[in-house]
Amino acid sequence: MSRIDAFRRYFSPLIWDRGALYHTEERVRTLELHASGMWHAHVLAQQQKAYDVALAFNEGEIHFMACTCTYSKRKLPCKHMAAALMAIDAMLESEEIEVVSTKAAELERVLMNVQHERLVGFVAEAAREDKEFALRVWSEFVDEMSSIIMLQN
Ligand SMILES: [Zn+2]
Repeated sequence: MSRIDAFRRYFSPLIWDRGALYHTEERVRTLELHASGMWHAHVLAQQQKAYDVALAFNEGEIHFMACTCTYSKRKLPCKHMAAALMAIDAMLESEEIEVVSTKAAELERVLMNVQHERLVGFVAEAAREDKEFALRVWSEFVDEMSSIIMLQN
């Protein structure tokens, strides 16, 4: 069983097939692996909409999966996630992976000089305002996160 087949079980067959179509139509426009281990995909949808998918793996299993579309707000794996997974698989297959250092140097320099408490307050507030961001913070800093998000089946 290939790596990609192992991820199929998280998706309904219909959603998986739609994701496959998106992948074939090359709707996954940007795919980046960030130094944090988080994959980011920009997926073109219908009517000129686009959604952002974030994915992280832990020992070959999906550790974290999020999308900005409304379907995934119901905690259901969406076709954009499926398409992103397939694009990641293809990229790993091609072995042409470039790790992006997350906007990096400049911002990091600024953050280094911010007082720790202020930074914590800022991140906590941002997480309250943005669920997606909150999930990313969790996935970055809480190791036991894996079973919470998508492993419902
Ligand atoms: Zn989606």
